[in-house]
Amino acid sequence: MTDTSCIFCKIIDGSIPCKKVFEDDKIIVFHDLHPKAPVHVLVVPKEHVESLAHLTPAHKDLIAHLTLKLKDIAQELHLKDGFRVGVNTGAGGGQEVFHLHYHLLGQPSA
Ligand code: AMP
Ligand code: ZN
Repeated sequence: MTDTSCIFCKIIDGSIPCKKVFEDDKIIVFHDLHPKAPVHVLVVPKEHVESLAHLTPAHKDLIAHLTLKLKDIAQELHLKDGFRVGVNTGAGGGQEVFHLHYHLLGQPSA
């Protein structure tokens, strides 16, 4: 279920480069091109889902997997003191790329 006009689908299929942090069969994690914190990565399901508002009960396992991996990645990126997760949803919610993604932001601690 790839959308050929979608920039994140192109990152997933490798036709656009990214600074990859993690990848498995369900998700990819890469650094945001315009970071708004010392660590700013995007946690992205490989399935093209337009936004959080487009999730259905069929995505339950995917979102559980993504959430658990997000927590592991925060630890791996040394965000020990805490971190922020955001999901802009819809044009009115500030979403610019219409492929579901979770912003993970924080400051690494020593
Ligand atoms: P949003 O406003 O939630 O849709 O956020 C989209 C995010 O994607 C922004 O923070 C952009 O900086 C980021 N972004 C856009 N294009 C790329 C890209 N090619 N690689 C990495 N991040 C990107
Ligand atoms: Zn996509």
